[in-house]
Amino acid sequence: MYNENTVIFSMLSLDTSIGTYCHLAKVSEKNLAKLGIHTVRDLIFYFPFRYEDLSDRLMIGALKIGQTATIKGRLDLIVTKRSPRKRMYITEALVSDETGTIKVVWFNQAFIGKALHVGDMIFFSGQVTGEYIGMQMTNPSYEKMTSSRTEGSTLHTGRIVPIYPTTQGVTSRQLRLIMKKCLIYTYEFEEWLPADIIKKYGLLSYVDALTQIHFPKNGKMRDEALRRLKFDELFVIQLYTQQLRILLNNTPCHTVTFNEEKTKSFVAGLNFRLTDAQRKSAWEILLDIGRSQKPMNRLLEGDVGSGKTVVAALVMLNVFYSNLQSVLLAPTEILARQHFDSLISFFSMSGMRIGLYTRNTLLYHDTSCEQSIFLKKKELLDKMARREIDCCVGTHSLLQESVAFNTLGLIIVDEQHRFGVKQRQFIKERVAARDGIMPHFLSMTATPIPRSLALALYGDLDISIINQLPNDRKKVITELFSESKRQEAYTFIRNQINEGRQCFIVCPLINQSDKLGVTSVEQEFEKLDKDIFKDLLVGRLHGKLKKDEKAEIMERFFNNEIQILISTSVIEVGVNVPNATVMVIEGADRFGLAQLHQFRGRVGRSSYQSYCFLMADSQLSDDARVRLEYFTKISDGFELAEYDLRTRGPGDVYGYRQSGSSSLKLASIADHGIIKIAREGAIETLINLTIDDLSLDLKKRLQEFTDLVNLE
Ligand code: ADP
Ligand code: MG
Repeated sequence: MYNENTVIFSMLSLDTSIGTYCHLAKVSEKNLAKLGIHTVRDLIFYFPFRYEDLSDRLMIGALKIGQTATIKGRLDLIVTKRSPRKRMYITEALVSDETGTIKVVWFNQAFIGKALHVGDMIFFSGQVTGEYIGMQMTNPSYEKMTSSRTEGSTLHTGRIVPIYPTTQGVTSRQLRLIMKKCLIYTYEFEEWLPADIIKKYGLLSYVDALTQIHFPKNGKMRDEALRRLKFDELFVIQLYTQQLRILLNNTPCHTVTFNEEKTKSFVAGLNFRLTDAQRKSAWEILLDIGRSQKPMNRLLEGDVGSGKTVVAALVMLNVFYSNLQSVLLAPTEILARQHFDSLISFFSMSGMRIGLYTRNTLLYHDTSCEQSIFLKKKELLDKMARREIDCCVGTHSLLQESVAFNTLGLIIVDEQHRFGVKQRQFIKERVAARDGIMPHFLSMTATPIPRSLALALYGDLDISIINQLPNDRKKVITELFSESKRQEAYTFIRNQINEGRQCFIVCPLINQSDKLGVTSVEQEFEKLDKDIFKDLLVGRLHGKLKKDEKAEIMERFFNNEIQILISTSVIEVGVNVPNATVMVIEGADRFGLAQLHQFRGRVGRSSYQSYCFLMADSQLSDDARVRLEYFTKISDGFELAEYDLRTRGPGDVYGYRQSGSSSLKLASIADHGIIKIAREGAIETLINLTIDDLSLDLKKRLQEFTDLVNLE
């Protein structure tokens, strides 16, 4: 027989509007919507961001001052009164158990006086305070025992309590009340992981994980729930990348043969000796691109100044002699221009024809006659299509055109993390489709990602690491300067310039703003150009300058026609002016270590001793001071990244979210262990099963993830 209740029950589902339950916690649907919670499902996937462990239940007689504890007792007395000056409501209560009595006080929560009554059995959780007045709990969380809320089923006290991200009009307490009710619906979720994966890695079931993440039985269960749900997120990514890897394995590509003679004379023509790490990386790349199947997909990691560009050039040279084109993409116009100039000198007299494609400058250079000419957009694109350009340097605006490459063998992306995820995907897909054959792909970065982590995260990527700096390099001497020592810094700069060197000054802002005390480029320029260094050549660079202006200023700095360059963080990536030996960073505490490391990497690019001065705000917090002082001692990019990872979390280290991470709610790249098993599990799954054999839900998730990646 069915009654009214069963009808309602069967109509309710995960997709039921959350409005149905709002009355339970007297919260408005509108406010929940602000948190993105519209349905029961949304709520269940609204995870706590931390927990408070209030499971430690004690007898009143055993409490100690300073302790955070939960007690259970009978309410002996409760009164609400106004404070003497009537500003505040004060609710006072006495609570006792067999071992003693304690006073409880709430400020401005008069409703509690109405909600609780003498004789009620109540849980209280909070900190025990009190000096002369005896022991007291102030503003504790509380929970009344009722027939349905017994010991062991509390929500706000006496357990590990979930704390949710909240907004105006929604408290964690309210979310817990509705959550408790809605978790009944988890029975609708089906297990979607393959059974042997669950078994092998000892994972919680899906339903248990979703329940325990909100109201864990104990600390261990909370950790297990997190582990399972993080695994879910990472497993989908790993399946995706493994699938891609299998696909790539069977994809044909252009074979680039190693031209030993030309490579040798290229290396001999350099005015320095390649480091062993550079040789090894180049060799790994050459092996990859020698294949006729499975296009290269490799990451070249090397700290700033380790010499990645010349490795790229060596590879491009071989591509050229295999009668194929190559493309080198840079994140900024300045960098693209610099690479263009480097390639011209690296490839001098080789007969290679080099193009530069940026939004504002289009150039063509023929190394057989060493002539550069400006071209119109269409002319440059036509040359590319007719294969009258052998290698082309460009910014992402190159991608926006429907460029018809003739026989594109290799794409290199410099400082890949500076390109948005969207653009990265675009690079891969767009160009891949061009002549039907997928080009080899190399990305270069100075962002240190530990090898094991990168491998695990991008299952489809191979990695080469340049882990040594050229021999002639001296460690950049780094110092933290206080405002009072500013004059010393200026004197030092003057001495360096007298010796023929150059100097960078980085400022956090372009213009003076209302942020008092933050140095701006314009302000600093005024001061230095007109006054302190008025006899020297001072220039300024920032993102708001016009197209040619920027290029011209870099050109002048490069030629030592500017001795001191004041700049915003546009200077951060890749800029190479070996004669510059001093890097001054104003407002240094405003930058992350990874970014500071990039700035510092602009100097120390030659055999001259170089210096990096951190100018910090006068009121530097202790944390910031410790961080900056650490930076002055450590010059290894990997170590700095790990320090940032430990103290500030992954988002800050990489300055951007890693590929695919928009689908990561719980997991992060710091979850080494789980990434590893997710990867292992994905590989195994695809050995045993085809995609078709996977559960419907898993297929759906995989599809969602694929769509997401393609969209980004
Ligand atoms: P990054 O890896 O940061 O991109 P670059 O490729 O810009 O570094 O190289 C930095 C500087 O070091 C350049 O001037 C380059 O010519 C020089 N360089 C590269 N390799 C070596 C080497 N083996 N010995 C000396 N100098 C080198
Ligand atoms: Mg570089």
